[in-house]
Amino acid sequence: MAYDYDDQNIFAKILRGEIPNKTVMETEHSLAFEDINPQAPQHVLVIPKGAYVTFDHFAAEASDAEISDYVRTVGEVARKLGVTPDMASGYRMLTNAGPDAHQEVPHLHVHIFAGAFLGRMID
Ligand code: 5GP
Repeated sequence: MAYDYDDQNIFAKILRGEIPNKTVMETEHSLAFEDINPQAPQHVLVIPKGAYVTFDHFAAEASDAEISDYVRTVGEVARKLGVTPDMASGYRMLTNAGPDAHQEVPHLHVHIFAGAFLGRMID
């Protein structure tokens, strides 16, 4: 499958600095920022800086340097938001891909939710 990347999507605009964001962490290949409409007390989106539509697109086409940077950034943000020293808390990680999963912004993003009892998602 060919992936068509739309460079007018909102996260591309954030990466170009055309739209402001509340940055949580930035690395060479990744950016983490607060979701504008949080669904948990802590709700952060982590995106690669490269032009990738979905996780599978990224996994297939990104360089090893981009992949390791992104995975480490996602992990570091998750640890910062959701891991207490006694492991009493936690986090949820989610990525939507494509219309059936209601992906709203066509630039890969992992959601990280934390800061509350998140309940059971899948029964
Ligand atoms: P999706 O449904 O694609 O998985 O999630 C897109 C997410 O992007 C939503 O949680 C939505 O609140 C967030 N979002 C949409 N527009 C903006 C924006 O301009 N700034 C930020 N920070 N988040 C946004």
